Amino acid sequence: MDSLSQNSSAVKFYSGENIPLELHKVRIVQKLHLVPIERRLEALYEGGFNTFQLNTTDVFLDMLTDSGTNAMSDKQLSAMMIADDAYAGSQSFIRLQKAVDDVLGKKYLLPVHQGRAAEHILGVAYVKKGSMVPMNYHFTTALAHITECGGQISELLYPEAYKIDSDHPFKGNMNIEALEECIQKHGKDNIPYIRMEASTNLIGGQPFSVQNMRDVRAIADKYGIRLVLDASLLGENAYLVKQREAEFQDKSMAEILLTFTGMADIIYFSARKLSSSRGGGICTNDIKVYKELEALVPLFEGFLTYGGISIREVEAMAVGLYETLDETMISQSPSFIKYLVEEAKKLGIPMITPPGVLGAHVDAMSFCSHIPQTQYPAGALAAAFFLISGVRGMERGSVSNQRDENGNETYADMELLRLAVPRRVFTLSQVKYVIDRLKWLYDNREMIGGLKFYYEPSVLRFFMGKLEPTSDWPQKLVAKFRADFGDSL
Ligand SMILES: *Cc1c(COP(=O)(O)O)cnc(C)c1O
Repeated sequence: MDSLSQNSSAVKFYSGENIPLELHKVRIVQKLHLVPIERRLEALYEGGFNTFQLNTTDVFLDMLTDSGTNAMSDKQLSAMMIADDAYAGSQSFIRLQKAVDDVLGKKYLLPVHQGRAAEHILGVAYVKKGSMVPMNYHFTTALAHITECGGQISELLYPEAYKIDSDHPFKGNMNIEALEECIQKHGKDNIPYIRMEASTNLIGGQPFSVQNMRDVRAIADKYGIRLVLDASLLGENAYLVKQREAEFQDKSMAEILLTFTGMADIIYFSARKLSSSRGGGICTNDIKVYKELEALVPLFEGFLTYGGISIREVEAMAVGLYETLDETMISQSPSFIKYLVEEAKKLGIPMITPPGVLGAHVDAMSFCSHIPQTQYPAGALAAAFFLISGVRGMERGSVSNQRDENGNETYADMELLRLAVPRRVFTLSQVKYVIDRLKWLYDNREMIGGLKFYYEPSVLRFFMGKLEPTSDWPQKLVAKFRADFGDSL
């Protein structure tokens, strides 16, 4: 019986309906706010049409991110109650170290307050002016820290990765030929490390295969370059390997994870994602790496046995890491994403396919094909969708890009509205509401207009930036909503 798949798509319905089944029950709930559309219009103006600037009291379904928003388990919460609060030598940290060793196969752990803090430390330690970091794709904070240290990046995906509608199982694969060319062009001494991100967050949460990582490892060995794995979304990446890579269909989550991590010299992660808690870490089996980074943790984060993380969260991380091995848990978000993407596609809505991890991604370039990239179609779609539904997604397009060193806009490869599906947070009827409102907006898409910045910070502008609509399109959208839905919320 052990060989039976334990995931939320594995239960067949007598009716033949194909829906993911929740394999958990809800024991603590939080009331949501579905405020009238007129209030949401005010909230958008108050927040500069930037969904990061909204208050949760105006938000119905918060699909901004999966970061620190995954539902925690009863076991995680109970572990938090036995946290051993101590500045140094905490037993909670020892338990976390053991979890990292058991699940990720790395003996040495440097705790940090979240994923970007790990990127900061790796940047300070290894990236200098003239450094080149090849990667499958960048993440906002990874890029910001590398450029802050004077380095550059090279994104080396295969062309398939940039195709919106695809059935390629591993769009996050590193382009092996391009990697070797990049090393030859820049010289191995200027490459502090190769970075593999599981799963490419900004272009649809797309995984890479074990075979691809083996190929990257072979190149890293050939040139003597370290391989760094950003494991923030490694759990779901491993789950999709089990689903999509034939060699691994009968392997356990534990085996797949260790296969991945065994190939990395350095692993870092955001525990806000990987272990459904908060915090982060850098881990390795290389004592030399550990020693190179050791002094930076007390300098920037906190003492080596807490690294700026609350000790309670250290306990939650340890339990959360073990729970990553549980297929009933790790399959939940990808199964809901798959449902959302496939149902939306049936209605003609342009979505990134195949469905990936962390969220469903709407292709704003096509949805809002009448809005030029200079007016931020993904930002406009995120604002419009919040306005008509109360669902808060995140812009993952040009607003999330940073200007180049000459201050020019760099337009994103993809303009996406990301609707994050944190683990075990939403019910299927809520997902159906998302699809329903998305369809209404799609049928009224010509009414969505563009945005322009009136406040634009120079670093990570998407967090704090403020924009305004280029016309009165939001008011017109509200009027159409009222005409169609009457006095519905
Ligand atoms: C979220 C994320 C990070 C940064 O982690 P934080 O905890 O938000 O600082 C880094 N890499 C990837 C792939 C991520 O998804």
